[in-house]
Amino acid sequence: MLTTTRPRTTPVPPPCPDRACHSDIHGLLWKDTTYLRNDPDNWRWYCPRCGQHWMPTSEQFVAHRTFPTV
Ligand SMILES: [Zn+2]
Repeated sequence: MLTTTRPRTTPVPPPCPDRACHSDIHGLLWKDTTYLRNDPDNWRWYCPRCGQHWMPTSEQFVAHRTFPTV
């Protein structure tokens, strides 16, 4: 029997909270780690369409957390 042991896939970013961006192909958020510094949870969403930064929800913080590679 085949067992599926898939490696962890990168979670898909959510669409921009701005409704004007939902119909645009560029309305998907990017993970902006500009403010990351020493805190792995201190990142923000960035929308390349409207150029705004968005605060991630607590669930998104967990789902999209990046552990420092040391
Ligand atoms: Zn947007």
